Amino acid sequence: MGSSAAVQHVKVAIIGSGFGGLGAAVRLRQEGETDFVVLERGDSVGGTWRDNSYPGCACDVPSHLYSFSFAPNPDWPRTFSGQPEIRAYLERVADRFELRGHLRFRHMVTGARWDEETARWEIETEQGRYSAQVLVAATGPLSDPSIPDAPGIADFPGEIFHSAQWKHDHDLAGKRVAVIGTGASAIQIVPSIQPEVGRLTLFQRTPPWVMNRMDRDITAAERFLYRHVPATQKALRGALWLVREYQVGAFVKRPALLRAAEALALANLKRGVKDPALRAKLTPDYRFGCKRVLLSNAYYPALAQPNVDVVAAGLKEIKGSTLVASDGTEHEADVIVFSTGFHVTDLPVADHIVGAGGRTLAEEWEDGMAGLRGTTVRGFPNLLLIIGPNTGLGNSSMVLMIESQLNYLADYLRKLDASGAVALDVTASAQLRWNDEVQRRMARTVWSTGGCRSWYLDAKGNNTTLWPGTTAHFRRETRSVDLHEYDLIQAPVAQPVNA
Ligand SMILES: Cc1cc2nc3c(=O)[nH]c(=O)nc-3n(C[C@H](O)[C@H](O)[C@H](O)COP(=O)(O)OP(=O)(O)OC[C@H]3O[C@@H](n4cnc5c(N)ncnc54)[C@H](O)[C@@H]3O)c2cc1C
Repeated sequence: MGSSAAVQHVKVAIIGSGFGGLGAAVRLRQEGETDFVVLERGDSVGGTWRDNSYPGCACDVPSHLYSFSFAPNPDWPRTFSGQPEIRAYLERVADRFELRGHLRFRHMVTGARWDEETARWEIETEQGRYSAQVLVAATGPLSDPSIPDAPGIADFPGEIFHSAQWKHDHDLAGKRVAVIGTGASAIQIVPSIQPEVGRLTLFQRTPPWVMNRMDRDITAAERFLYRHVPATQKALRGALWLVREYQVGAFVKRPALLRAAEALALANLKRGVKDPALRAKLTPDYRFGCKRVLLSNAYYPALAQPNVDVVAAGLKEIKGSTLVASDGTEHEADVIVFSTGFHVTDLPVADHIVGAGGRTLAEEWEDGMAGLRGTTVRGFPNLLLIIGPNTGLGNSSMVLMIESQLNYLADYLRKLDASGAVALDVTASAQLRWNDEVQRRMARTVWSTGGCRSWYLDAKGNNTTLWPGTTAHFRRETRSVDLHEYDLIQAPVAQPVNA
């Protein structure tokens, strides 16, 4: 990898500065570790909340739960706060926990290779080389936009952009805008732009289940209370968490119970859309929860407006400014907004991480993502993934999962140091046992039995993204590192530890 003089060595290198990477950095500092860097390809922190600035972008888990437990924010302005507030919150976290000195912006990691001779990760970035004993990849499950390769896309004469790369300098007023996709971003975008665009055509392959969102301003009195009596905010967070923990049983064990929620969602649809033909198009034919349940009060009313067409088909091809749907209908557009999600089960970073024996993570995961406790992967010593395989949630805050993984990270570093080894590598049997158990539990879930095809599933139809259990269960499973699940790698003979 070139001259070692140019290489900066650190104990821990973290890739990414979203909730995951920042959380890891805070945790390291709390553990007294200061020998680390955060390598971030963007030019500021925030990850998801830096990149997604589309109109209407907000969290869909209440803000008091969708934030760090160690950094409560009494000043959330709304129950479901918007992107600018969440981004500003993460900026404040970086300041408050004194992370600035560790952040390296415009440092896209283009390669990370485990060097068996030195027992270090050799890391290449756009701006120089690093080596690290431990590599934490917090590159985000939803951070690399996926745009379908529709035939004719290159010749579309108008503007094209992905929801995560919104072009704010492009005025949509009066334009014919096609929105492709009906996921979590689309249902926030559609009602936000519908009043200003000339015509909005929504391409819907599958209608989502949409529930009412209890979104409101948080009053000054409430904020005063949270600030001056922190226990009240803690109690609210606890209540929000508990409600979601109780819902998990229906998703993972008894999907039939979700029929009750279907009735509520259908009532929401009936309230928002009076036209029975449109309602029929918008009625899902699979079990509630099989795909991510979406929350919006404004989506259905927006679709009922006269300047909106719902095309109940996917985008097949583009001929000039005409979009051809898979049902053969043709629609004119000046702008195409792809709200088509992210590379979730084929994470681009997996191509760039090379483990022992020269195998990339992508090669290792050819048959599907797998790891131990969602965090470590056999053959990739001292690599910890934040939001790794089977750590996603359908109904609660990802920050809870991230914080569980931070506990695991902290214990990993402690046990690694205490063991006298230079690295830990998951045993094949421990990883197999863990994944067999996760997949056994997955079989009964609504995500497997609900009759839909979702982005939770990989190309082979396996759910390698979601956690089939409560967040409390995951917290227990990641409380500490069991060294019996790891092979201990001793310092290489040619390179003593104190060299
Ligand atoms: C629009 C939207 C709304 C969401 N709302 C919610 C919600 O309400 N509740 C919830 O629980 N979850 C929500 N999520 C999921 C959300 O992604 C997670 O909650 C969380 O933000 C993930 O944090 P992260 O740090 O793991 O990833 P990210 O926030 O994606 O951060 C990853 C970081 O890694 C950087 N990076 C990636 N690759 C490289 C590389 N090779 N080199 C250097 N840097 C790199 C990226 O630039 C980015 O800054 C939402 C996601 C989206 C897209």
